[in-house]
Formats: sequence, structure tokens, C-alpha cells
Amino acid sequence: MPDIIQLLPDNIANQIAAGEVIQRPASAVKELMENAVDAGATEIKLIINDAGKALIQVIDNGKGMSETDARMAFERHATSKIKNIDDLFRIKTMGFRGEALASIAAVAQVALKTKRAEDDAGIAIEIENSIVTNQEPVAMQDGTSIAMKNLFFNVPARRNFLKSNPVELRHIVDEFIRVAMSFPEIFFSLTSNGQQVFYLEKGSLKQRIVQVLGHSYNAKLVSVQEQTDYLNIFGFVGKPETAKKTRGDQYFFVNNRFIKSAYLNHAVMNAFDDMMAKDSYPMYVLFIDLDPAQVDINVHPTKQEIKFEDEKIVYAFVQSAVKHALAQFSITPTLDFDLDASIQNLDAVSKPFTEEKQSSASASSLFKTFTQKNQAHFIENKSELKHWKDFYESPGQDKNINQQIENPNIELHTKPVQQQFAADDLLQIHNAYIVAANDNGYLLVNQQNAHERILYERFLQAVAGRPIATQQSLFPVSIDLAPADAVLLIELLPDMQQLGYMLEPFGNNSFVLQGTPADVPDGNEKSAIEKMLEQYKHFSNDLKFTKREKLLRSLALQQSIKSGTPLLQKEMEVLLNDLFACSISNTTPNGKPTYMSFKKDELDKMFGR
Ligand code: ADP
Ligand code: MG
Repeated sequence: MPDIIQLLPDNIANQIAAGEVIQRPASAVKELMENAVDAGATEIKLIINDAGKALIQVIDNGKGMSETDARMAFERHATSKIKNIDDLFRIKTMGFRGEALASIAAVAQVALKTKRAEDDAGIAIEIENSIVTNQEPVAMQDGTSIAMKNLFFNVPARRNFLKSNPVELRHIVDEFIRVAMSFPEIFFSLTSNGQQVFYLEKGSLKQRIVQVLGHSYNAKLVSVQEQTDYLNIFGFVGKPETAKKTRGDQYFFVNNRFIKSAYLNHAVMNAFDDMMAKDSYPMYVLFIDLDPAQVDINVHPTKQEIKFEDEKIVYAFVQSAVKHALAQFSITPTLDFDLDASIQNLDAVSKPFTEEKQSSASASSLFKTFTQKNQAHFIENKSELKHWKDFYESPGQDKNINQQIENPNIELHTKPVQQQFAADDLLQIHNAYIVAANDNGYLLVNQQNAHERILYERFLQAVAGRPIATQQSLFPVSIDLAPADAVLLIELLPDMQQLGYMLEPFGNNSFVLQGTPADVPDGNEKSAIEKMLEQYKHFSNDLKFTKREKLLRSLALQQSIKSGTPLLQKEMEVLLNDLFACSISNTTPNGKPTYMSFKKDELDKMFGR
């Protein structure tokens, strides 16, 4: 038998590896923009066509490359940013793996032009399938332009995986905003299909926030600034009155890298405490800078999670910094400064950060100090902290059901029962539950869950061809959204129309709402749309649902009558009868129970009868 193992040719190995780094147009946008930032550019222009599928071009006025470097740049693991393993723990640049350009060259047709200030002419290079097809000198300004055309032209399977243009465009806008937000001293522009989407003049962080997130934040930003030897926090939070029904405007950057952290988000939410309505989200743009050695940066390039050496202390800092800021602007009347004082007094914080301390910190001694002084206990005792995860879990966890099943006195129906109820048999308790007596005992119905099920089935029928009647508004409402939300809403428009929303795009991320389903109360239209988008985003990582399914579930959840709403006898009757007319009546679409059944003979047994 002959030997069978071969080395893959470079271009194929590169194509395979590229899948890790370049998953969609937005990942290339991120890499190219970060390279321009790393090159010291003060002006960065992003041009895309066809949501990045046809063209992604980044033009910068940074330091450019020599002819040799320009060719080297496309080799795998070619980087000017680290030289040895220790450098990894001192990273100050956005990139360092030397994989991005090699990956891009493996899956797109690339045209690079670059010129350094000290060179008379620039160099133009064309690459296809990782192979240089043309190279010539070129007259140009200092800086670099990289254009990548026809992403995945040679990997059709990947190309087919790309989502619709609005979806891919939204991802691009998200990445663009993240980079633009963290470098307000750099000019950025974004042009899509010849249309200018963003034109961001250099300025302060405050100006950048207003440029990107909208003028509604003008004069509504509270500055957050806290410096310690362990870390610095700076940025802005929106005053409580600017809090939105959607989670969109929330940004954390650690050492200038955008990160997602439900944990730190909770710290901010906690600091706002009860200054805001319960289901609203404050705006924040917060930068956390700390010694790179305290952060595990060596995570996957496309991941946005981050590992802190000591997560708890970062949480405590974020929370107290935001509290401080809100207090200084006398937005919050009563405050406890315990937490701040206790942090400030820690040795690790109050004393300079020496080399020695650095190594002990990495052994997480900071956390031990914390525990010794009972401070960890203090934080953990904050009951909200223990439950911070719940905050993020979408409703509809099966755990409710399990709990109920463990309780032998309660029987959960697994099959729908056809039942008719008369208004007189119904009693509302706690403005949340309906007790419905029947011959066998009684049902305890959760009004919100029940209504969610009813709405969901009604919406299902609507999109299947029985549209919901629209009630034309007397005064059309205009709705301004953040760019990313606007892109999202455009995607959902056709289905929204079936569901009774007369909604039209108006340009510039605005929409006009001419009518809503008859049962959405007047004056709440705008918040209904915002809440729906928020709910939709909750689902949007859930790959098992189609976008229509996510929309239906979001709307049902959001429009359901909430616990705390008193109901008339007649309303309860309609609710119950509608519930039992559903094809599945015992759970919400997310699997939460809508009612429990209590059998009379079980009750008798319990009372020894
Ligand atoms: P990394 O950014 O991780 O170093 P890349 O593949 O993104 O890897 O880039 C490889 C190298 O090419 C960089 O280290 C840098 O030296 C050079 N380079 C890339 N883009 C630019 C640019 N816009 N201007 C100047 N040099 C660049
Ligand atoms: Mg890079």
C-alpha cells in the first residue's frame, strides 16, 4: 500500500483557516478597520457594495507599508505587532495574530495599494487565491487602501451561508460603530452602495456618541470617570430618562476592544438600581483600561467574550464608578458609598501597582484580600448578583415546569382540554391569576402566559394568510431608531404588515407608523415597536428559530397583558375561552405553563375528606 498522507497546498490550508477569522463580510470589515487603526491612521473610510458581498474597501492615511512588507503582510502568521510570546501580555494594538490578511486573500480577490511617507511611489498588488497576480508601482497619497471583492468567490458553500443583505449590512454597521466608538479622535465614514451612511468628524467621545447614537443623547450624558492603580474606567452613561425599551445602546470596551459581558452589564444595571422603569435599558459607553496582563487577550479573534484575572473586582469597580457618576450629577437621591470605600481601602487598590504586585495579582491574590476583608461576601450578598444570570435567560425556562412536577399536589396538564367557562365562575387574584372553577376542581390560570399563547396562535394565522386588521392612526407616528435597529426593522417589515402594523421606512433610520393592530392602545405604538425589537434581539442568537418565528414570539410576549393588570369578568371569560380554543393551550410558545389544574378529589384528600 502506498503512503496516503499529503500536505495541503498553501491556498487550500489558507482557505480552511480563513473560515475561523472571516466568517462573514462584517468580520473582514472589523479586521481591515483595526489594521488601519493600528497603522496610526487619523482618517479611515469604509466603502461597501452589496452588503460587503461584492466589495469591502478600507482606505486609511496611516503609516503604509514598504514593498516587501506589503507582500509579506499576506503570509499566514505574518505580523509586525509581536515578536515573542511575552509580547502577548503587553499587547497595545488591535491585531497581533497576523492571520487577517492571509485569510482575506484566501477567500476574496484583493487589491492593495500602500505608500509610506518616506517613499516616492506606492505599490499596488493584486492577489487571487492567495497568489499575487499583479504588482506595480503606483502614484498615491500616503496610507493604505485594501479592497476585497467577491468574498467567498472560491468557496461557494460559504457564500451560500451568507444571510440576506439587510442582515449582513446590520452586522457591518455593528462592527463599524464599535470601532468608530472607541476611537473618536479618528475620522470615520461608511458608504454603502454609493450612499453615505456615516460621516463621523474627529472629536471627543461625547461628540462621537451623539454622532453615532443620535441627538436624543445631547445634554443627556453623564460622565463616568474613576482612576485607580488597578484599572481606569471612563465613558458616559445616559441619564435615566433616556433609557430605552431596547438594549441596543450599550457598549463596553476593555483596552479599547469591544466586549460583550452580561456580568458587567448587570453591574451597570445595578448602579442604576430603581432609577429607571423595570424593563428599560440605560445607554452606556464605558471604557475599562487595565494592565493587559490582567486580561486574557488570547481568546479567539472573532469572540467578544473576555476573561479577567479577577472578574469580581471589575464588577465592583464598574458598579461604583457608575453610581458615583450618577450621584455627582445628583441624579440619585440616596446612595450607599460602602462599596466604594471598601474598594478604595484595599491594599491592592490603594498601593502602587508594582511588578511584584503584578505577579501576585495574577495569582488572584486580590480576590483573597477581598475575601479576607469580608468584602467578597458583601458583594455576593447583594442578592441581585447571585441572580444576575436570570436577568439574561429568556423567559420560558423549563425549570418552572420541573418544579411543578416535583410537587405531587399539582397536576400539570399535558394534553389540551376543551373547556367552556362562564364569567361567574371566574375570580381574579393578585391581578395576575384567574381561578376558574369547573366540575372536577379548579384551574389556576396565569393571565399573562395565557394571553401570550393566544396572541402567538393568532399571529401564526395572520402570517399564514389571515392578516390582522389595521386601525389607521389619526396622527402618524414617526420612529427614529439607531442604525442597527433600523436595519433590523426593515427586515421584519413584510411580516409586520401582515400583523397589522402599517409601517414604512422614511430614510435616515426613521419610520412612519400609519396604523397598528386594533388592540394596541393609542399612544403606545412607539414603545410597542421598541419593545418588540428588544424582545426580538433576545431571541436573535437562537439559531433554531426562523426570523418570522422570532418575530411572532417577540410580539406575543410583548403584547400580552401583564401581571398586575386588573381584568373585568367579561375579559377573563374571553381570555379563558380563547385559551382553550388554542391548538395547544397548556403552555406558552416558550414552554411556560399557562395554567395548573387542581382536582377536587386531591383537594378532598389533602383535607382528610
Ligand atoms: P495583524 O494585524 O494581526 O498583525 P494582519 O494580517 O491583519 O495581521 O496584518 C498583517 C500586517 O500587515 C500587520 O502586522 C501590519 O504590519 C500590516 N498591515 C496590515 N494592514 C495595514 C494597514 N492598513 N496599514 C499599514 N500596515 C498594515
Ligand atoms: Mg490585523
